[in-house]
Amino acid sequence: METIYLECKGTCEDEEKLVFAGEILKNGGLVAFPTETVYGLGGDALNRESSHKIYAAKGRPSDNPLIVHIARWEDIYKITREVPKEAELVARAFWPGPLTMILYKNEKVPYETTGGLDTVAVRFPSHQVARQLIELGGGFVAAPSANTSGRPSPTNARDVAEDMNGVIEAIIDGGEVGIGIESTILDMTVSPPQILRPGYITREMLEEVLGQVDQDVTMFETGTGQAPKAPGMKYRHYAPKGKLVIVKGDRQAVVDYVNRQSEEARRKGVKTGVIATRETETLYHSDVVLSAGSRQDEDSIARHLYSCLREFDRQEAKLLFSESFEAPGIGMAVMNRLLKAAGHQVVEV
Ligand code: AMP
Ligand code: MG
Repeated sequence: METIYLECKGTCEDEEKLVFAGEILKNGGLVAFPTETVYGLGGDALNRESSHKIYAAKGRPSDNPLIVHIARWEDIYKITREVPKEAELVARAFWPGPLTMILYKNEKVPYETTGGLDTVAVRFPSHQVARQLIELGGGFVAAPSANTSGRPSPTNARDVAEDMNGVIEAIIDGGEVGIGIESTILDMTVSPPQILRPGYITREMLEEVLGQVDQDVTMFETGTGQAPKAPGMKYRHYAPKGKLVIVKGDRQAVVDYVNRQSEEARRKGVKTGVIATRETETLYHSDVVLSAGSRQDEDSIARHLYSCLREFDRQEAKLLFSESFEAPGIGMAVMNRLLKAAGHQVVEV
């Protein structure tokens, strides 16, 4: 299949291209598009054939449900059985934006979209291109991240093309995304509501609206004996091709450790890489040193994390290290993704 590229960067030609892309969706095809979190791989959420195609394009296990994206508040009522009052409060506070809610689905949503579950994940994104495309594509767009299953999520059109060129009908290039990490997932079918995946909208922000909010214990720990409540969180995820280790400790000890390991690997002919910060990038001697951003600006680290992981793959670095990011706020989400990417390999120095 030849993939069509559509550049939509806020000019007046966007509308025509988005109408075209919307038609692809309505006809059961797949279109990758930018959102404020990461790029999504869109298909008609109410068409079971489209959902099948999404799973096939990503190589995604079919028990891993898709998030349904809407572009109007009231559309939440069209695909769910009930919307509790708390969910309305959350929607009013955080939509459109990087928050997904789990609710009971109605018969309109095929089980192919929800991975066989009676619940459906719903999000109303804020990105202008995403909103227009969803409207023009029929109003309900299933869109997991537009990467091959297991790889880091794409944060720009080049990263999407790396995995999806020749596999889907179209890719909309809307430039770099703003947040860089997937939406917070909040399960509204339990009381108190529970965070299943951390993201830009933090527990503290949700608690201001809802009072108590729990979080899935498996988000940061392994060996709890429990399966994550979001089926997708059980898979190794966001992973680069090389082996990644997170190194925790004080700054100098981390730098010394990474440099020692890199030296040893170099002697064996193994290419190394490290995710550093603006504050530390000049201190490392690894082959590929990438700064994710500044510790003074947590958001910048979230925005660049996945592109760093992909860059290691491009440069064929095989032994990778990352500094640890345990700041509150979005640092929680960064750490959750890094732990998954590293298969929970952490070294304390
Ligand atoms: P992605 O498709 O990469 O955006 O990831 C979507 C995440 O949402 C996966 O971890 C899914 O398992 C999770 N998810 C989607 N729908 C549900 C649902 N109904 N219940 C629990 N988790 C869900
Ligand atoms: Mg994903």
